[in-house]
Amino acid sequence: MFGSGRDQADDDVFCIACGERVPRGDAREYDKEGDRWNRHGKEFEFLCVDCHGELCHQPRDELEAVLCDVEAVTPDAASSETFAAAYQREVLDRYGDPETERRDADTDTDRDSRR
Ligand SMILES: [Zn+2]
Repeated sequence: MFGSGRDQADDDVFCIACGERVPRGDAREYDKEGDRWNRHGKEFEFLCVDCHGELCHQPRDELEAVLCDVEAVTPDAASSETFAAAYQREVLDRYGDPETERRDADTDTDRDSRR
């Protein structure tokens, strides 16, 4: 699709992960509530194909619930830094230090491959 010479700047959207500008038709819709079929009153966010591919391989079982909770307690006017800080606090509260978890995951993988 890239380099097809289309010039439809009006249709372009921005990837929420990397900030890349992508044509609407090449972007992936991202509904943080995980319910793409209920479109009423919603504004979708978008991911470029690359980021969408990367994100989908990550386990994120409760991510959306956490994000919605953080959003609920973060003022509308909050900067993204404030939001990120609130998010990090919430994640630490719930799951503890992600570094520790990553080491655990590595250990699990090693154990599996030896079996
Ligand atoms: Zn992207």
